[in-house]
Amino acid sequence: MNGTGGPDRKWGRVWVVGASVLAVVAAGGVAYGVLGRDEVPKASVGASVTPSATGAVVSAEELAEQKMAAGIDVALKGRAAALQSGTLAQFLAYSDPKNVKQLERDRQVFANLRLIGMKQVSYLRQLSFTPELRPKLGKNARAVRVKMLTQIAGIDPAPRLTQLGFALVERGGRWLVVDDDDAEAGERGDGREPWEIGPIEVSRGRGVLVISSPGDGENGRRLVKEALAAVPAVQAATKRAQAGILVVAMAGARSWDQTTITGGHPADAVAIPNFTPTNAEATEYKVTASRIVINPTGRKKTDRFLLAHEFVHAAMAPLGDGAPIWLVEGYAEYVQYRLLERSNYSDWVAGERRQFRSTARKSLVVLPIDGVFHGDYDESSYGIAWIIVEHLVKKYGQSTVNAFYAELAKGLDDPALRDQALLKYFKLTDAALVAAVKKAS
Ligand SMILES: [Zn+2]
Repeated sequence: MNGTGGPDRKWGRVWVVGASVLAVVAAGGVAYGVLGRDEVPKASVGASVTPSATGAVVSAEELAEQKMAAGIDVALKGRAAALQSGTLAQFLAYSDPKNVKQLERDRQVFANLRLIGMKQVSYLRQLSFTPELRPKLGKNARAVRVKMLTQIAGIDPAPRLTQLGFALVERGGRWLVVDDDDAEAGERGDGREPWEIGPIEVSRGRGVLVISSPGDGENGRRLVKEALAAVPAVQAATKRAQAGILVVAMAGARSWDQTTITGGHPADAVAIPNFTPTNAEATEYKVTASRIVINPTGRKKTDRFLLAHEFVHAAMAPLGDGAPIWLVEGYAEYVQYRLLERSNYSDWVAGERRQFRSTARKSLVVLPIDGVFHGDYDESSYGIAWIIVEHLVKKYGQSTVNAFYAELAKGLDDPALRDQALLKYFKLTDAALVAAVKKAS
């Protein structure tokens, strides 16, 4: 698909964007998968909580376990309270004073979270996870799985859940953190929260927060401007707005989950859903917003067009994940191309449209759903999806397309539901829509 001339750097860049933002859905799926596991509390925990009520005999070991759990919870609550009140000494009071490395990490996390500005921070020990011994970290050291809830002030509409692994050790009756990134207890991917990986810089605009690496502050400020230029285009189309949006654009590889690869390409950016617990135990969740994480290798060339694409995913994510991939990606592409048209690239966009119509459209036989999106259409998937959505918006109007999207998003990604919705909103079958797209000029 290369070599068509035109503003080639532009072409290449936007094409790379188109070909590689695919990870959004995949990333969402991964996150659901990770968080959905291990959520059934084991009976032992519940049973040991109220032994006297049932008259059961409590063994010495069970009592010790309960005491340990209570001690660990005190440490977790103490750390959260210290973060909330901004008291570093209190935060470090729950860190092992002999572990210089961990103390340094804790100082950095504290400083970063204060710099970002948290409306709410809490840590919940996952009850279904049985604490594991970590003899290398000290006698009786235990690793626990922790759910960290963070709500960035002015950005996140609700607390966002992250799963962590902590190891703690008891010293003089107090439980102290000796490791805040226990791999087995955390069971996380490659990526880390932006505040976990060293010093940061933050740049702010209205409803936008960009976190970058030290020395990248200028790029952070540039990205704030690009984000502010993308937001109106996204809101105009989706009629949806989130309170604010976090963009992570760091230099370090650990800000980026290396598993974020789809269709064989590493993505340039992903919209990662914010999961918010819907019950006190944090065992059930809903998507309340998304953050955008930019691939470190592309952070300096990320522009308003890529951000607009990702912001569309962020705006639509709370509606549910039932929409088919051609609609999810086609809609994001549509908004991105609209913004390009309005940014003096209309000739270039017209060329793209011609290109897809004269080549890839010929191979269109069914609406490209998950199985064929990257397979049969390969590099043209995004272009095909774009011309389908553009056709729908032109013919039936933005609000009808939005209602169609919302209805599919809230259901399961199911062929029967898709057929029903196509009929309901456009009076079309799948085949008729394909035929119309192939004919459209
Ligand atoms: Zn996308």
